Amino acid sequence: MIELIKGDITKIAVDAIVNAANSSLLGGGGVDGAIHRDGGPAILEDCRKIRARQGGCKTGEAVITTAGNLPAQYVIHTVGPVWQNGQQGEKELLRQAYYNSLKLAAKNNVLSISFPNISTGIYGFPKGQAASIAIQTVREFITKQAIIQRVIFVCFDEENHAVYQPILEE
Ligand code: ADP
Repeated sequence: MIELIKGDITKIAVDAIVNAANSSLLGGGGVDGAIHRDGGPAILEDCRKIRARQGGCKTGEAVITTAGNLPAQYVIHTVGPVWQNGQQGEKELLRQAYYNSLKLAAKNNVLSISFPNISTGIYGFPKGQAASIAIQTVREFITKQAIIQRVIFVCFDEENHAVYQPILEE
């Protein structure tokens, strides 16, 4: 089941919250800032351990940590692409960010997962194209497995919410 919510991803209870992180895994602005602020220092502590082990997280890949004080068990940190001109593999990298987050969630027996609108803030990915990629990747993935039961797209801004709605109704 796919759901659409307008709001703050840190307030919604799920098994795993996806974070639109950056490669350093050391926190940033936007949704990343909100997740670390509300989740508390345990998330950054786990991120630092991952950094020590593998030196951060590449674009399109995903890593998993505790969710600290958030109403979730895990945070899955993925790194979306920075939009340049659309000819630098951005679409495929965004697809991979969603796909690898879902794969890691399923591996950890996550039944419910929430996604922010990865790359559509500071990273500048056009919202319409990003929504199509997000929805298509999730639809394809969930039909092929039996672990993840519920995927929630959490739109913080009205524009993203308005872009998602008609695509999800198709
Ligand atoms: P990126 O660097 O991947 O673009 P941003 O955090 O700048 O990441 O933006 C990604 C999306 O997250 C944007 O659409 C922004 O509106 C949204 N966002 C910001 N804060 C929150 C929040 N607390 N909950 C859900 N989404 C958020």
